[in-house]
Amino acid sequence: MFFDKIKKVFPKKFKHFIKMQLHRGDSYACPICGFQSSDWAPVGVDFPVLKEKMIIGGGRRRAGCFKCDSDDRERLVYLFLKEKLRIFNQKDLRILHIAPEYSLALKMLKIDFAEYVCGDLFEPGYKYPDYVKNLDVTKLPFSDKSFDLVICNHVLEHVVEDRRAMNEIARVMDNYAKAILQVPISENSQHTYEDSRIVDPEDRTSHFGQPDHVRIYGQDYPERLQECGFSVNRINISGEYPRFGLNPKEDLYVCELLRG
Ligand SMILES: [Zn+2]
Repeated sequence: MFFDKIKKVFPKKFKHFIKMQLHRGDSYACPICGFQSSDWAPVGVDFPVLKEKMIIGGGRRRAGCFKCDSDDRERLVYLFLKEKLRIFNQKDLRILHIAPEYSLALKMLKIDFAEYVCGDLFEPGYKYPDYVKNLDVTKLPFSDKSFDLVICNHVLEHVVEDRRAMNEIARVMDNYAKAILQVPISENSQHTYEDSRIVDPEDRTSHFGQPDHVRIYGQDYPERLQECGFSVNRINISGEYPRFGLNPKEDLYVCELLRG
């Protein structure tokens, strides 16, 4: 009776609650919310091109947290920020988070950083949380050297002028700042595939694996970053955290400004 009432008033929340109970376990743990589970929820969508090009960090996979909805890509960035960069006790940091992931942003918002700016390019019909401001990554509304850390996780594959975005990110980074610039990458393509004539969402899906993707990055991705003024440190930490449901193949692209 009590559950029937909740089910009626909060159908979505009830479903979420039941799912959490069914998947409780001790095989895995979400580092963001602490939920311990027997497995992960399915996330992502499969398209033939994603398999054909062996896209790391794309496609249908069991990678979602049943409690906070974080996925493998979000947890990877969170763990890197927490365990490797140790940012959560560096309150003097000025941070720009582009297209912020919900669970990660909530964690960051709890810390009283010197600056924590969240921004996304607002699209009609979508609602954005109050802490997110409308901004275009190819035209950042900040002066030079404004940030110590930029987080841009799976964004550049949506941006037609990605080199302009990379240049803008470099511009707003202070001398010793870092940027985490994650994108889905083809494991078996050396070269990035893009074609500006492909604009129809269906065509983009068949060519790039998602209706709003404009390219598939190849193994030459770090070179493109280097051309825009970054030195790129390609790091894999997934093996260190087997319980946290990371993609063993997903490398981090940790960028600093080229010096000299
Ligand atoms: Zn979680």
